[in-house]
Amino acid sequence: LIPGKRRELTCKLITIGDTNVGKTSVSTRFTDNQFSYESFNTIGIDFRIKMMNVNGKYVKVQIWDTAGQERFRSITTEYYRGAKGVIFVYDITDKKSFSKVNSWCRVFDAWGDKDAEKMLVGNKCDLEEKRQVEPEEGKKLAEEKGMMFYETSAKDNINIDHVFMKLLSKVVEQQ
Ligand code: GDP
Ligand code: MG
Repeated sequence: LIPGKRRELTCKLITIGDTNVGKTSVSTRFTDNQFSYESFNTIGIDFRIKMMNVNGKYVKVQIWDTAGQERFRSITTEYYRGAKGVIFVYDITDKKSFSKVNSWCRVFDAWGDKDAEKMLVGNKCDLEEKRQVEPEEGKKLAEEKGMMFYETSAKDNINIDHVFMKLLSKVVEQQ
């Protein structure tokens, strides 16, 4: 498909989860194929854009990211509004981040679109020796909530493209 020759879809995706689980790394890995051991804590919210062909449709994917406001639970409601896809992220080496997924779901249910497509992601699966959450636990929670589920590694680029493509195909199907 040639950009501009057809009506393109704009699709807002967001990541949600505790601080330090790898939300910024996951979206950066997807958009730029880069990984950094640094994490930046500037103020505000930013987004990255990637143009993609999803099932034959030309899609402008906007991935919104916080600058760490989740640490203080002070994310502006603008962040959730209009998101067509949500990636709930936890860290497989941090049980607490997994137990917080439920409350992040409630936050999204309060402010987000009812028909947004949802995905649960257990990140940092490269750190097997530090694992605190089994894949089965993630799978079970995702099933309960009607979400798709993958374990990922932003560091080793495992399942990152898969997560976004699966989510985007569902979103595009709805349009
Ligand atoms: P955020 O606060 O959720 O946005 O998390 P960041 O993306 O800033 O990442 C937090 C820390 O975890 C950083 O030091 C990253 O380098 C590290 N990190 C992120 N993803 C992975 C991963 O898949 N594997 C490993 N080993 N470290 C990761
Ligand atoms: Mg971040």
